[in-house]
Amino acid sequence: MPPESDAMAVRTFARPRLLLSRCIEFDRCRWNGDMIASPVVRMLAPEADMVPVCPETEIGLGVPRDPVRLVRAGGDDRLVQPATGRDITAAMGAFAIRFLDAAGSLDGIILKNRSPSCGTGNVRIYAGTASPVVAAKGPGIFARAVLDRYPGLPLEDEGRLRNFRILDHFLTAVFTIADFRELKEAGGGIRRLIRFHAENKLLLSAHNRSLARAMGRIAGGGEQEGMIPAYEALLLQALARPPRPGAVIDVLLHAAGHFSGRVTAAEKALLLDALGRYRRGQADACAAKSIVRAWIVRFEDGYLDRQTFFAPYPDTLFARDAEIPGHGRDLWAERPQANP
Ligand code: SF4
Repeated sequence: MPPESDAMAVRTFARPRLLLSRCIEFDRCRWNGDMIASPVVRMLAPEADMVPVCPETEIGLGVPRDPVRLVRAGGDDRLVQPATGRDITAAMGAFAIRFLDAAGSLDGIILKNRSPSCGTGNVRIYAGTASPVVAAKGPGIFARAVLDRYPGLPLEDEGRLRNFRILDHFLTAVFTIADFRELKEAGGGIRRLIRFHAENKLLLSAHNRSLARAMGRIAGGGEQEGMIPAYEALLLQALARPPRPGAVIDVLLHAAGHFSGRVTAAEKALLLDALGRYRRGQADACAAKSIVRAWIVRFEDGYLDRQTFFAPYPDTLFARDAEIPGHGRDLWAERPQANP
């Protein structure tokens, strides 16, 4: 959080604590000795405290190892290793409890997709140990324990995070939750809560206006027992879904109202054009947000400058360029020449 006195302060961000499947960028611990490349995790690692874990190696399966799979047997899902006939469901369940008991506070979770241990929901559950028939799909065994232990916490798999909208929502949620965790670790208190709510007011209004109002009532109700957990429950609820475009547009128009009479008709038209493209699904909200951010800086609007809505996570994580194939290469120099 920026110091209250600075009109145009540079925001410092809390470092989110993220549970991570260790085979994503951290270790060659997959069944075949592979590691999963994830530009998102690489980008995020310097800004977050990662808690990497590989449940399969933790329960004693080596690298390389025979693959495991989920099997539905008598209405029950079992984690088995077909090549050896081992059933490791109980071992995985016991490890998950031990590990999660010791994991402490987390702000978000990134797990490996489709893994029978870590997969978050799209894992094949086979009809039998040797059967090719997929009876259903669901989360992996370790992921089930994580979901039970941390309901409401942002959870994604590395595959989904390749989508910018999903990534933007995930980063917004985990950095906001990390900020709130720091507030709790600093002792909570009504003054910190009022400040947190004030700085996140536009962000929360965009996500869920009625929950934002309810949170405002808690922050405005003075020091009370249970106010921090009550506020936190609503915060997780509000951040569970991304904001609707209409709500984002309302917030941006409200913010733009701070500059009425001070920006030119052409500048206003530029903003309305960017909002129109966002509304029609032809662009994301970045262009419109950048226009209003430029006005905030130009007119030194301290209130809006402190609104996390405009920069919910570090700008360094906004590097979608990393996803652009050939970024940094002179692709035109590589064109075939008509007359070499
Ligand atoms: S998906 Fe999970 S269990 Fe499998 S290698 Fe990765 S971290 Fe280990």
